Amino acid sequence: MTFHILPADQPLASRRRFFAWAGLTAAVIAANRLPGEEIAKSATTRIALLSDTHISADKELLSRGVNMTDHLTQAWQQVNEAAGRLSSAIVHGDVAFLKGEMGDYGQVAQLLVPAGKSAVPLHFLLGNHDDRANFRESLKSAAASPLESHHVSILELKQANWFMLDSLEKVNSTPGKLGTAQLEWLAAALDAKADKPAIISVHHHPQKEGDKVAGIQDTKELFDILVPRKHVKILFYGHTHAWGQKVQDGIHLVNLPPVAYVFAKEKPSGWVEAAVGDKGIELTLHGVGPANEAHGKKLELAWR
Ligand SMILES: [Zn+2]
Repeated sequence: MTFHILPADQPLASRRRFFAWAGLTAAVIAANRLPGEEIAKSATTRIALLSDTHISADKELLSRGVNMTDHLTQAWQQVNEAAGRLSSAIVHGDVAFLKGEMGDYGQVAQLLVPAGKSAVPLHFLLGNHDDRANFRESLKSAAASPLESHHVSILELKQANWFMLDSLEKVNSTPGKLGTAQLEWLAAALDAKADKPAIISVHHHPQKEGDKVAGIQDTKELFDILVPRKHVKILFYGHTHAWGQKVQDGIHLVNLPPVAYVFAKEKPSGWVEAAVGDKGIELTLHGVGPANEAHGKKLELAWR
């Protein structure tokens, strides 16, 4: 089956955020073959999802035997090879190693935006190992967010609107928080864009009682907004460095694998290719690092 991939509709506000627009135009950009997955039968928009890159200014730095720069280089090479079918990439926070230092972001820019150009339009979320001021200064992203207090944005796709949140509360401290101002912005933005499915991305995981790792401290307040708005279909997050998927109140919760900074050797590392359709999403895990049986596997999730 042949299908066409359309690039995202790019509103003016989000255009300013892009480092580069590497040749994707408003025209149909690619024709490709896919196996016969239900969700991918209609036209889809494809987005590369990365998380927890933990890049240090020191490109030789190892953590738990993993060179984070090597992992991101491999993942970004794969994204570059797939760029013809991708419309954007979203890095889900913990972009920097531990403290969000300027040198870390400089290294990220060298890897992802060589010579000032990225393979695809690039969006960043902030995690607990990022520093908002340093991020905004080094990656020149200050103008993009409708909130001064947090780095948030909306990516408008043909099939859905993608809301990118900022759960960074305190640099190099594990818990995350969205806060009242951001939650109010989110509720209003979701209500203003209720005509299409809504996809949410945030660095921290929704916190549950008994969780070993601290997540979003105001999870209840977040879900009070998401659950009754039936156009909210799926929430992506990183932070726990564990690839996985579950459902809560009909909303898919997808925990992205780390690109680098692997907590447990048996868990996969890599990036996820999301094909957004009208009725659901198809996720493919592209692995980097040691072979893992999850690498290359697809996950098909239907909208509630
Ligand atoms: Zn992390």
